Amino acid sequence: MPRDRRRPRQPAGVQDDLRGRHDHHHGRRLVKNVVHIVGSGPAGLSAARTALDAGARICLIDDNHAPGGQIWRGGPARWTDARARSAWNTLRGHPGCTVMQDAQVIGCMDSRTLLVETGGRGAAVPFERLVLCSGSRELSLPFPGWTLPGVTGAGGLQALIKGGMPVSGRRVVVAGTGPLLLAAASTALRAGAHVTAIVEHQPWSRLSAFGLGLLSRHGKKFLQAASLFAELRGIPYVTGATLVAATGEDTVRGVVVRTGGKDVEYACDFLAAGFGLVPNTDLARALRCDVVDGAIQVDDAQRTSRTDVWAAGECTGIGGVDKAVAEGRIAALAALGRPPSGRDLPLRRASHAFAALLARTFAPDESLRTMCGPETIVCRCEDVTRARLLPHRDWREAKLATRVGMGPCQGKTCGAACAFLFGWSHEDARTPIMPATARALSDFE
Ligand SMILES: Cc1cc2nc3c(=O)[nH]c(=O)nc-3n(C[C@H](O)[C@H](O)[C@H](O)COP(=O)(O)OP(=O)(O)OC[C@H]3O[C@@H](n4cnc5c(N)ncnc54)[C@H](O)[C@@H]3O)c2cc1C
Repeated sequence: MPRDRRRPRQPAGVQDDLRGRHDHHHGRRLVKNVVHIVGSGPAGLSAARTALDAGARICLIDDNHAPGGQIWRGGPARWTDARARSAWNTLRGHPGCTVMQDAQVIGCMDSRTLLVETGGRGAAVPFERLVLCSGSRELSLPFPGWTLPGVTGAGGLQALIKGGMPVSGRRVVVAGTGPLLLAAASTALRAGAHVTAIVEHQPWSRLSAFGLGLLSRHGKKFLQAASLFAELRGIPYVTGATLVAATGEDTVRGVVVRTGGKDVEYACDFLAAGFGLVPNTDLARALRCDVVDGAIQVDDAQRTSRTDVWAAGECTGIGGVDKAVAEGRIAALAALGRPPSGRDLPLRRASHAFAALLARTFAPDESLRTMCGPETIVCRCEDVTRARLLPHRDWREAKLATRVGMGPCQGKTCGAACAFLFGWSHEDARTPIMPATARALSDFE
């Protein structure tokens, strides 16, 4: 019998690690009063908890094995943040809660149905109200040697260590720009690594102004930064420095850094290089939500340009965990037609002020473009160098001519790098927004 394309196939292999109800199995009629949430980081958990507290049912979908997103990576057993634990206590065992972990939303079938790959199979998940909490990605900028084994992003190394990669006794250099460098260095240090240097692109004057900005308006964050600095005491903190090259043959052996007109080489077994974060807007673009300046555009109620889709957390702009938690709550209430609570608005305002301070201090400046020479690989999936990209006018033309962004990562790394290097904007994301198995895709036919 031919399958009705509009009618979702039964999700196969859905992992429901909480006892919940898969109402979407039974079609659109039963998705009423269910808030679907993509992403179980701080924003998604906050939205889920708020919606459940308000009496709604939720379906929380995330592609990681355990909830928590980036900052709370590792799952409930490892959480120390009281907000994470208390959100999980509400979700766990709640009859109105369905959690789909290890489930990637790979796009949409129509404007109201998500396509989810889980356990190698495809599932169609209709929604009535959707909250996007898809977080951010690290901005990796190309420099000579950045594709050597052992070179990762700053958050990337952190995630590998949190996932169990041993670094004890290994030499680590953390480089690039932004507060994530300190967090990554701290994670490496605690895991027993020998952190040989932290290399920050911003000059000391700008970092001092950032510190003063924290002190005057964000006391708690100032204390967090001070305690990180105390923990990292003794590690060379090189400021106003630019990466020249990662060195080594088969694997990284060192990194050359230019500071004060001189080149200095630091030996290392791992180089963690990150240049900040960029909002993850793939799914929003596939759903035709407006994206402005690289972030999902939302109004004061976190509503996107679509009336049935809200967004919260780093996908609406980089600002850290407090912003994610406050926006998650506001988005969930708005999705249920309720106003934000009195305490959420000041929290969001403060978190937006912090976001603006972050952007003023750490936005990558144009001089970082010089790290990428003509022969430096920009698209590592398809081995496309800067020289091959230069003749092209935009992302689309370059893609057609060079295959940039057409490898397994589908431009998730080089797309942001090209936006920075050449000012190219992305075209709309198309389903599937990430690589999916043929078997899962055939489930949707
Ligand atoms: C690599 C990295 C490391 C970081 N480390 C720190 C740190 O140590 N300290 C700190 O203060 N901040 C850190 N941050 C910043 C951090 O992202 C925020 O502070 C906070 O986690 C943002 O919460 P969020 O809920 O908006 O997004 P996230 O925590 O990123 O959560 C988003 C979730 O959505 C999931 N998701 C996205 N798209 C899909 C999809 N299509 N289908 C299914 N699931 C999807 C993601 O896998 C993720 O689990 C890091 C960011 C990155 C990118």
